[in-house]
Amino acid sequence: MIIEVKDLHKSFGQNEVLTGIDCSVDESEVVCVIGPSGSGKSTFLRCLNLLEDVTSGEVIIDGDSLTDRGVKIDDVRAEIGMVFQQFNLFPHKSVIENVMLAPMKVRGTSRAEAREKGRALLKKVGLADKENAYPSSLSGGQQQRVAIARALAMEPKIMLFDEPTSSLDPELVGEVLAVMKDLAYEGMTMVVVTHEMGFAREAGDRVLFLDGGVLVEEGTPQQIFDNPQEQRTQEFLNKVL
Ligand code: ADP
Ligand code: MG
Repeated sequence: MIIEVKDLHKSFGQNEVLTGIDCSVDESEVVCVIGPSGSGKSTFLRCLNLLEDVTSGEVIIDGDSLTDRGVKIDDVRAEIGMVFQQFNLFPHKSVIENVMLAPMKVRGTSRAEAREKGRALLKKVGLADKENAYPSSLSGGQQQRVAIARALAMEPKIMLFDEPTSSLDPELVGEVLAVMKDLAYEGMTMVVVTHEMGFAREAGDRVLFLDGGVLVEEGTPQQIFDNPQEQRTQEFLNKVL
């Protein structure tokens, strides 16, 4: 198990947003998180790399309990790549510079090595010809693929995605999902919050259904989509499928 979550609670003031989540993710597993808006999906994901501090419970990443005082959070975080709905690329830096930045700053990678690795990653996401372009000249789908390359540049053990295609025009969604599928098939451990049920079915090993801060049901895509056990899951799927 590379991620283990034990009785995770998260409150914002009086509002308890996660009410005791237990789950785990194996190495190379692709876990898709689905559920209605406001159910706590983003908060759950953000707790996995302590972008939110946890109210109670435990998050263990690759053997390190993030809530232990001794743990070096920045070291653990460097192992976890995150891709958001918004791409957050540096607008005044070229595509390749966006990808090179974190390894140089955080890992002390040399400029030459960062460039070489950056080029390989841009090739991987299908943007080899865009290395000197600026983000504003790219489509949303291309920008999101740069954001994925940028996250991969840190050679993370785990990739977290929070609705990576939700802000894209429909015709650009496929190119981003294709890159994510490639990653999944290469064995990357991934936790993906998504409304793309086709992706979850095809690339997911397991699906978690969250509602009202509760992990209502989990199972293989087949179990969840074809034979959901809980009424809340059925109702949600009836709305989105
Ligand atoms: P989802 O991603 O499933 O739409 P979120 O995790 O974003 O859900 O939000 C779950 C609940 O937590 C919502 O009620 C939201 O208003 C609340 N929430 C999220 N982030 C914050 C925050 N930083 N401060 C206060 N409330 C928050
Ligand atoms: Mg969200």
